[in-house]
Amino acid sequence: MRHFPIFLAVAGRRVVVAGGGETALAKLRLLLKTEAQLTVFARDASPDIHRLAKEGRLRLVARAFGPGDALCAVLAYAATEDPAEDARVASLARVDGALVNIVDNLQDSAFITPAIVDRDPVVVAIGTEGAAPVLARQIKADLEERLPASLGALARIGRGLRAAAATLAPGGARRAFWADFYLRTGPRTIAENGLAAVPQAAAALLEAHRTATPAPASVTFVGAGPGDPDLLTLKARKALDTADVVLHDRLVPPAILELARREAVLIDVGKQGFGTSTAQDDINALLLAEARPGRAVVRLKAGDPSVFARLDEETEALAAAGIAWQVMPGVTAASAAAAQIGQSLTRRGRNSGLRLLTAHDAAGFAEQDWRALARPGEVAGIYMGKRAARFLQGRLMMHGADPATPVTVVENASLPEARTIATTLGALATALADAAPAGPALILYGLAPHAAQAALSPPLLETMP
Ligand code: SAH
Repeated sequence: MRHFPIFLAVAGRRVVVAGGGETALAKLRLLLKTEAQLTVFARDASPDIHRLAKEGRLRLVARAFGPGDALCAVLAYAATEDPAEDARVASLARVDGALVNIVDNLQDSAFITPAIVDRDPVVVAIGTEGAAPVLARQIKADLEERLPASLGALARIGRGLRAAAATLAPGGARRAFWADFYLRTGPRTIAENGLAAVPQAAAALLEAHRTATPAPASVTFVGAGPGDPDLLTLKARKALDTADVVLHDRLVPPAILELARREAVLIDVGKQGFGTSTAQDDINALLLAEARPGRAVVRLKAGDPSVFARLDEETEALAAAGIAWQVMPGVTAASAAAAQIGQSLTRRGRNSGLRLLTAHDAAGFAEQDWRALARPGEVAGIYMGKRAARFLQGRLMMHGADPATPVTVVENASLPEARTIATTLGALATALADAAPAGPALILYGLAPHAAQAALSPPLLETMP
């Protein structure tokens, strides 16, 4: 981010604009939405600007901008449509201590003006740092459509209700009231009985929430999927939206954590391969401690919570403590990896069963029914297998597996940086050592990338001998 978005206090403060043409007018239209004291400097201002001056909405000074004209101004716009004149205005205004924007000159501007969706006091500012004005307009149009016109009025009423709502218990109860007010009762009351009916409906709603019984302790296990935020389920999105606390694995990427409610406390309890980790007992204790006071606790696990994620250890600890829990499934890495290479995990006539294996368990390398796996046509999704490749390869070949059996390693499945390493069982260990994947990787044993898919994505596909 080269520009940090903030909302500047301008009510009653000076903002100056140099220029009297269309460019200046375009900025004035935005500035007129504020309570700033606007002064325009222009020798020949357009009739529109003269009219605004006559209406008392701005002060017009009919001369060019000069030294001292931006004194005490928070913002100064150079909008004269003449680059040399704009540069002169900008250097004078800087001396006066104002933040300066030169219209259509990103380089020399101290700030830029975003596209705005105005539902005052709810304001959405959209900026692309000048990179994609068309995109900004599109986002603005989308939001204009999506946000009801009554939102501003509702928020103004809401502002007046804050003191009364503060008498509700902080956290769950208060949040439930606000969600109800803004998303259900508020819009419905406006639609059915008009704005005037909202204060009374809000008072009734407040009373209903005051007497509601508090939510019992509970934990929601949520599958975060393989990493692409678009692969979250709608239920996962909702759970993150309302979470007070999110305990997450290290593998869950920032783009997904960002979807958690802004006030939610994020706790990384990541356990990673051989690195530092939070002991399982500590995680269990933390879950209980966070859930007991009735907080909305989300336990966010990479992929699906029920696949190599110690779900049962955590649910048993909760059950023993009498705390309710529920599980929201997610897309597991094996599904994401198969999708990445365009293959089906099962296939009529080839494999009527599918194994999900881990190459590691608490005791080290994990033993499997190698003889069964070594039979032709078997397919397995192998988790946590990066460092066990040589062990897997040795065990399978010792039990008679064909060294030519296709094996595909998918790193960072579902993410833009996904990488596919297509190899064979006989070459697996060397192929993995050469490719040295740094991200999480899933080994698809018995599957090669689909030919059509392989042709489509050559840059991501590395074929190892
Ligand atoms: N519960 C998770 C698995 C946790 S074990 C799930 O259902 O996917 C962690 C292992 O999952 C990693 O070592 C890796 O083998 C695999 N994994 C997780 N995300 C992955 C991704 N985006 N791409 C490839 N493998 C991934």
